[in-house]
Amino acid sequence: MKDLSQHPCFNAEAKHKYARVHLPVAPKCNIQCNYCNRKYDCCNESRPGVTSTILSPLQSVHYMKALSEKIPNISVVGIAGPGDPFANAEETLQTMRLAQKEFPDLIFCLSSNGLDLAPYIDEIAEIGVSHVTITVNSLNPETLAKIYRWVRYKRRVYRGEEGAKVLLEQQLYCIQKLKEKNITVKINTVICPGINDHEIEDLAKKVAELGADTMNCIPMYPTENTEFEILKEPSKEMMKDIKARISKYIKPMAHCARCRADAAGLLGHDNAEAMNMIGQFSSL
Ligand code: SF4
Ligand code: SF4
Repeated sequence: MKDLSQHPCFNAEAKHKYARVHLPVAPKCNIQCNYCNRKYDCCNESRPGVTSTILSPLQSVHYMKALSEKIPNISVVGIAGPGDPFANAEETLQTMRLAQKEFPDLIFCLSSNGLDLAPYIDEIAEIGVSHVTITVNSLNPETLAKIYRWVRYKRRVYRGEEGAKVLLEQQLYCIQKLKEKNITVKINTVICPGINDHEIEDLAKKVAELGADTMNCIPMYPTENTEFEILKEPSKEMMKDIKARISKYIKPMAHCARCRADAAGLLGHDNAEAMNMIGQFSSL
């Protein structure tokens, strides 16, 4: 029987006790964020988008079985890239279905930009996905146009404010639809100083109205070879101030570890030994 209180990302008390595993089965992405460089692959780095390999759905389940012998306290299996789970919908759904069969007591979690999620919400609810994160960075198309280089939706590429509107519309729709299915929804927001930091309160208000459960503001990491490498990482004071402001509307998440797409272990304390064996399960 699942105990949803054992999700370490959603329950601070569970974070020292229960581990989460990310299965890197989703390499492609349907948008390009100006802070993301998925080509970068470094075992010393810990941030979203980074993975040491890609697994097929079947390989990922073999890997999970081996991991559960090394890490006995796994409570969550999630997919968080390194691209977007629904730009790789077939692999994502197959992995979740296999995991449901092999590990029915685990909590299933997905993290997406929300662009292509809507058609799959009924199916993920039926599989038993109980937690979904959507990254929403602003409500303002002008701001969003500075954050996203392009958005590919239904085989068409959109740029500028047009792309921003397409993405935002899907994201806001998905929050409501996920809540109708009783799925816990976390909003991730990447704080990009000078770009969206002054708009976060409005965003918190809106997503709370739509039913989102918690909001996780993540400081942008100025990654090499990205448009935003020239931006400064937000200061601790800026992050503290934003968290205080959004808490008027929504529960802020305070313990994000900026996890890799192949993270495995306790939040902030990945199990290096376990993660090192992932290569044995990949045919890359
Ligand atoms: Fe990178 Fe995620 Fe943005 Fe895709 S949605 S470009 S994987 S940060
Ligand atoms: Fe789910 Fe994100 Fe936590 Fe991974 S880090 S288990 S995707 S909430």
